[in-house]
Amino acid sequence: MKTKLYRIPKVAGYEKEINEAADVIRQGGLLAIPTETVYGLGADALNEEAVRSIFEAKGRPSDNPLIIHVPGSEWLECYCRQVPQTAYDLAEAFWPGPLTMILSRDPIVPNRTTGGLDTVGVRCPAHPVTLAIIAAAGVPIAAPSANTSGRPSCTNAEDVLEDMNEKIPAIVDGGPCQVGVESTILDLTVTPPQLLRPGGIPLEALESVVGTITVDRAVTGLLKPGEQPKAPGMKYRHYAPHAKVTVLTGAGATTADYIRKHCSPQSGIICFEEYALLFEGMEVHLLGPERDKSEQARRVFDALRKFDHTKVTEIYAQCPDDSGLGLAIGNRLKKAAGFRIIDLGEKEI
Ligand code: AMP
Ligand code: MG
Repeated sequence: MKTKLYRIPKVAGYEKEINEAADVIRQGGLLAIPTETVYGLGADALNEEAVRSIFEAKGRPSDNPLIIHVPGSEWLECYCRQVPQTAYDLAEAFWPGPLTMILSRDPIVPNRTTGGLDTVGVRCPAHPVTLAIIAAAGVPIAAPSANTSGRPSCTNAEDVLEDMNEKIPAIVDGGPCQVGVESTILDLTVTPPQLLRPGGIPLEALESVVGTITVDRAVTGLLKPGEQPKAPGMKYRHYAPHAKVTVLTGAGATTADYIRKHCSPQSGIICFEEYALLFEGMEVHLLGPERDKSEQARRVFDALRKFDHTKVTEIYAQCPDDSGLGLAIGNRLKKAAGFRIIDLGEKEI
């Protein structure tokens, strides 16, 4: 199948293209959509057949549920049951934006969409074009990240084309993603709420609205054999480049120094801008300034993907601390590394 590319940078003046894109969804087809986090691979969340083809195109295990995308919190009562007031408070504070809430599922949402769970993940993405497409389609769009399963998420339309060309009918190019890491997933069916995946909304920001939040163990380390994460997707080795990755935590100067001493000409380096000179002549991808986590979030997947086009056999990555967006950036790097982490924290001076 030939994959059609719609370039839709904004809503005004692109009504015809938006309607055509919404038609793909209405007809049960797959449509890659831009969001502020990463590109999504969308289908009508209420159409089992359409949803099945998402799993097929991505090679995604069928027990890994999909997030459904809605244009606002007024749709929550249509697809969820017993919606707590905290969901509306969080939506008021962070929607449209990178927050997915896990709520009890209304049976109108098919089993296939939720991987057989009796809960459903819902979010309202902050991309005007995608919001317009959902509104025109008139149905929630189920959309996982638009990468082939196991590869880093796509943060621009070219990356989607690389993974999905000739597998799906259409891609909407809405420009590069502004946040760069996926949504934060918060389970509101338990008390206190539980963080299942760190993402574009920092934990601290959520706590300022709902108070204490617990963190699922899968966020910070490898699970023991037989142990299940609450978000089924967290058990898979996502975001893995072909080369082996080692993550260094601790003060930037210390980790940079360690990498310089241990790397070889075949090493790829992911480092903060400030240390680029130490690795001149090597395959280097800059994460951005050491103190600018928003920039690091935008660049983290790009760094992981780009090494696949090089000859490097191992990758060393500097990692920000866990505060703010650092928890999500560090989680993506550490997952890419299969949690192979060298902590130089104690050696901080
Ligand atoms: P992706 O869209 O590919 O970034 O993946 C969505 C993530 O949300 C996966 O890790 C899923 O396991 C998780 N997820 C989706 N729905 C639920 C749910 N009802 N309960 C727990 N986790 C969920
Ligand atoms: Mg994904």
